[in-house]
Amino acid sequence: MVFQTIRWADNNGAPYCPVCGCTGVYGYKTRALWKCKGCGKQFSVTSGTIFASHKLPIRDYLLAIAIFCNGAKGHSALQLSRDLDVQYKTAFVLAHKLREAMSSDLPTGGVSGEVEVDGGYFGGYIKPANWKENRRDRRLAKNQTGKRRVVVVMRERGGRTLPYVFKTEDGSIESIKAHVVPGSTIHADEATHWDALQVKYLTKRINHSQVYSDGAACTNQAESFFSRMRRAEIGIHHHIAGAYLDAYADEMAWREDNRRISNGEQYLLVSRAALMHPVSRTWNGYWQRSQ
Ligand SMILES: [Zn+2]
Repeated sequence: MVFQTIRWADNNGAPYCPVCGCTGVYGYKTRALWKCKGCGKQFSVTSGTIFASHKLPIRDYLLAIAIFCNGAKGHSALQLSRDLDVQYKTAFVLAHKLREAMSSDLPTGGVSGEVEVDGGYFGGYIKPANWKENRRDRRLAKNQTGKRRVVVVMRERGGRTLPYVFKTEDGSIESIKAHVVPGSTIHADEATHWDALQVKYLTKRINHSQVYSDGAACTNQAESFFSRMRRAEIGIHHHIAGAYLDAYADEMAWREDNRRISNGEQYLLVSRAALMHPVSRTWNGYWQRSQ
């Protein structure tokens, strides 16, 4: 019933066809299914959403969202599989579907006003050897694994957070120009590649080697996003990297933006985002395809 109310909020919670939009539907006594009077298609509350072709009972999805919202650092798939008493594979895909829903709830119209820009590197670690003579210089290009990526965040002061993944920080310039609304002021550190932003924006720069925050320019909010990413990396996911770095970055941006609202409101936001989100192209049938 909760899902029904959220999904069909624009029709007072009454189901309508996800295919043709027809509000005339037949219900079934024994199952939570409907049949469209217009096109004849059968559908459930999750048809055409991120929970499409679900295997678990609805109450497990409600519980998963509640568990997932709770906890500022995020939730590992292993924990989720224990809490829900489902297979690790199931929990892994479910967690990624919830991240995809959170991601779709990030601002699409770009960010504006006072915008802080900063980058943080993740992944591609090389373990330091125990003995000094065996240690390699991890800064040398030949010792890099090639998996290292940088998350560049654009963060509105008192507003929303937009993260994107790049190979290098200076590769983010065009994306910043595309996502930060003209007329905004950009706050960034002293790195020379940010100079390219000066042609489009008023920029304020801070030299971290000299002063932490001089009052005029500061990137504290961008750094607060990265400290959340690092806490999640250390406490939960161990290696936030590789193919899913952008998904984790979006999740942490969503958590940062919604950190002041109650768990109950977060739960409603994620539920709504999941039920408004079309079938996931990445995660629907993921294990079937990968076997
Ligand atoms: Zn229909």
